[in-house]
Parts: sequence; structure tokens; C-alpha cells
Amino acid sequence: MQEKVANQRKNFLHHQSKKIVTNYDAVVMEDLDMKGMSKALKFGKSVTDNGWGMFTSFLQYKLKEQGKQLVKIDKWFPSTKTCSRCGSVKEIKLSERTYQCTCGLNLDRDYNSALNIKKEGMRLLESA
Ligand SMILES: [Zn+2]
Repeated sequence: MQEKVANQRKNFLHHQSKKIVTNYDAVVMEDLDMKGMSKALKFGKSVTDNGWGMFTSFLQYKLKEQGKQLVKIDKWFPSTKTCSRCGSVKEIKLSERTYQCTCGLNLDRDYNSALNIKKEGMRLLESA
């Protein structure tokens, strides 16, 4: 049973990474310290055990095969604290699910960080 579940999970990760690599020319991600993060946030094994490492390595080799790029953003880049519209930076608590800025931006916090990561990735690609 365990082997079957492991294989299903692996197939899922292959499928998802292939889909991303086929549809996009580059992938930008934060270079997260998943082990440290799961310890600090007391997530236990769930974060390190969910196949994130496997997923990123699948992504990496599949992108490479197609001459595409995986861009890793420094883990200190303030993707969560930065307003994706005006660029101002502020503290935001983990409990705040929405990023609200004085410029009028009101956006889901993860979507806001994703936009910042994308922008930073494009900047790195252009300067490379
Ligand atoms: Zn703003």
C-alpha cells in the first residue's frame, strides 16, 4: 500500500512539473529553507515530507532539458512584506491573510507575494 501511495504521489509530481515546464519559459521560486521553516512554525514533518524537494528537482531537470530556466529568489527577499503595486515594504502578521497598502492595494497575501516573486525573477532574468 505504502509503495502504491508513494508511486501515485511521484506520478502526480511528474505530471504537475511537466505541465508547468510545457506552459512556461521560466519558473521563479523562493529558495526556501523548508526544514528550518517546518521546525520554526512547528509544522512537524508535513512540510518536509510533502515532496517539495522532489517536486523542485523534477522541475529543475525538466526545465533544463528544454533549455528553460529555474530562477531562485533569495530567501531574504521580502516577498510577503512588499506591496506588489507601489513597492512599499511593511510588516505583515501571519494571521493577516490580505495585504492592504496605503496605495489602495487590497490583495490575498500569497497572491501579492507571488507577484513580487515573479517581478524579482523577471528582473534577475533581464540582468543575467
Ligand atoms: Zn502599495
